Amino acid sequence: MSDDPHDRDAHTHDHGGGHHPAPLSPVEMRARALEELLTAAGIVDPTFIDGVVNAYERDIGPMNGARVVARAWVDPAYRGRLLTDATKAIAELGFGGPEGEHMVVVENTPDVHNVVVCTLCSCYPWPVLGLPPNWYKSPAYRARVVREPRAVLAEMGLVLAESVEVRVWDSSAEIRYLVLPERPPGTETLAEEELAALVTRDAMIGTAHVAARHGPISPPPSGSTSPPRQQTP
Ligand code: FE
Repeated sequence: MSDDPHDRDAHTHDHGGGHHPAPLSPVEMRARALEELLTAAGIVDPTFIDGVVNAYERDIGPMNGARVVARAWVDPAYRGRLLTDATKAIAELGFGGPEGEHMVVVENTPDVHNVVVCTLCSCYPWPVLGLPPNWYKSPAYRARVVREPRAVLAEMGLVLAESVEVRVWDSSAEIRYLVLPERPPGTETLAEEELAALVTRDAMIGTAHVAARHGPISPPPSGSTSPPRQQTP
């Protein structure tokens, strides 16, 4: 695994007292052993490591990406730059660095839905989304979303009309993708910061739509986005 160009972000140890759904990979075992040795030797304070992990999970996390999305929604010129050179446009807002050096933003439209995966491991745009959720790293998601994206998305609660083309993007160490979701109807009067608060991590991976949770909400056109739920294997 260590020769795999994808294998740079196997930082998956769980400091939250949770559980690992799968056995630790060799890289994870090495990282854990190293952490324990450094902690035992008094070289590293475990609260420091927790602090770094928490920063990526909660602070740096998806809020950075949400601000990028909100800016693109309110500023057409910025949206243009984002779709042309995402790394540069994201840096305009002050975000960048490791695991985000080569960003590509793909835009959802009424006709096209984008979803991101890393089929080999868990490549993910840290500077804008923080750390990947466990399901993103799961072998099931990585394998199935390529073969049957519509079914996987439906299982995750996102049922797309048959007329919508689904595009699956495979992240790697070279390119990290971010989905620019559609701005939900009924948010025309919201300010940029209010819009950012609506944008979720999953919407930027492409496994959810952004919903208008507050502000003036107009009822969605009936039946426009919710065909009968499909049964999936
Ligand atoms: Fe990867």
